[in-house]
Amino acid sequence: MRVRLAAGVALLSLACSLISLPAAPTAAPPPALATLGLPTPIPTLVPTPPPQALPPTPIVDWSDVQLQREALLDAFAADASNFPLATRYWIEAVVDFDPLESQAVIVGRQRLRFTNPLERPLEDLVLMLWPNDDQYAAEMQAGPALIDGHVVMPEPEPQGVGLRFRLPAALPPGEALDLTIPFHIIASGPIRPDTPRRFGIDEGMLLAPTFYPLVPRLTPEGEWQVLAAPPGGDTTNSDIALYDVHLTVPDGLAVAATGREVERQAGGDGTLIVRFASGPTRDFAFALGRFVSAEAQAGDVLVRAWVLEEHAAAAEDTARVAARAVEAFGQLIGPYPFDELDVVDAPGAFGGIEYPGLVFIGVVGEGWDDIVVVHEVAHQWFYALIGNDQLLEPWLDEAAASYAESLYFEAIGDPRTATGLLDEDRAILRSTGGTDTPIGLPVSEYGTEAEYGVYVYLKGALFFEALRNRLGQERFQTFLQIYFTQHRYGFATAASFQSTAEATCSCDLENLFDLWVYQGGELPLP
Ligand SMILES: [Zn+2]
Repeated sequence: MRVRLAAGVALLSLACSLISLPAAPTAAPPPALATLGLPTPIPTLVPTPPPQALPPTPIVDWSDVQLQREALLDAFAADASNFPLATRYWIEAVVDFDPLESQAVIVGRQRLRFTNPLERPLEDLVLMLWPNDDQYAAEMQAGPALIDGHVVMPEPEPQGVGLRFRLPAALPPGEALDLTIPFHIIASGPIRPDTPRRFGIDEGMLLAPTFYPLVPRLTPEGEWQVLAAPPGGDTTNSDIALYDVHLTVPDGLAVAATGREVERQAGGDGTLIVRFASGPTRDFAFALGRFVSAEAQAGDVLVRAWVLEEHAAAAEDTARVAARAVEAFGQLIGPYPFDELDVVDAPGAFGGIEYPGLVFIGVVGEGWDDIVVVHEVAHQWFYALIGNDQLLEPWLDEAAASYAESLYFEAIGDPRTATGLLDEDRAILRSTGGTDTPIGLPVSEYGTEAEYGVYVYLKGALFFEALRNRLGQERFQTFLQIYFTQHRYGFATAASFQSTAEATCSCDLENLFDLWVYQGGELPLP
């Protein structure tokens, strides 16, 4: 994510309860909720009409990953089979949206297979309804769920954006559960640059990231990551999963989404059913609207820019810059394994926001939009491929993506801009003060959104520069590549970042990390 930051020198745009039903027969498909004569569901988070019935469980063959393979480049097609414990999503959603109206309604159902990765039985499962968070202009409901043949009512999480399901039976280690859940979203709008949101109606487009009940990250210690997101920071924490998403959308509107479009057919009544599949990815987002699009290739990766008509002149440049960034980071850090990346013009979506395989750019046509495009593309490496806790250790992806802006300009033969960006970071940091503030705090521990931006993004970029100076250019690049290889599709922590760096240089970096990341202290700022 990139926030718009005003800081001294210049306006810098950075960017449940289990209902004991009569035992559902396990051999036969479970009956729909309405036929069970249950009271109308559900404990509500928002006063919108809940789904009226539990829809029938869709038939899914979880052993088939052919479509997911298609969303990967040939060299990485095996990645679709390499994570048998990864959550599988099958999602079907009908999107009722007229660009001239300021509301959209999404009605869907989701079936998922979740495997217990812990070495002990799991008693509960959490699903996040992120569109209810303040950063999203929407209201979402979901539930009840059908879990292995039992209807289970959710308990709202204390902080409001999660539902906790007590499992009908504890899930043994390595065993999978099967869950089907209906969901319903009302998107409100419009959202605008001065009232940015992640989700909503933006200039006649529908922005719909994380529009389904998301399984949050389950830490190795067995804790569900259900923290609410502070303002200004990113929201989701989730592990990689494989997606199969069927969107019914109005015919005539373009749809950009995570992953690859694998099927398209008429849906009747002026609708299209568009199916997307993804390789191993931690979230799924789509946007719907009247876009002008342009394409560029980054090796075998297809990069598509989707822009508003008034920004049509910027479409080709946007695609070209994003493709150059994919090439540069592929060489510097490690290969982008997916066959497609979408870059979507979204003026009300902050400076820019990253999702796997799809980024929103809030500043298309504003003259410095290439920096934001590069920043959000860099998040495909730092966040999407190398995961991290975006709430507790945001520097791992934000400082890295900010520094990657300079790496990009070096890579394309423009070292002046690369250096200029870092000089600007120093100037803003000096004028803001508090140069001894560590970059490694959780989002919630910075005083303001602007301070979060200055210390985590700008000082964070300068930390990467300091690390590079300490390691030397060659070892720094080796570090980036080893860090990528070790954490690709996984989760990094500050500790694993540090130990990878130390292993690369066979040196002790404790003082450097204490000074910049953990404790802070007075810095020599050239
Ligand atoms: Zn960012």
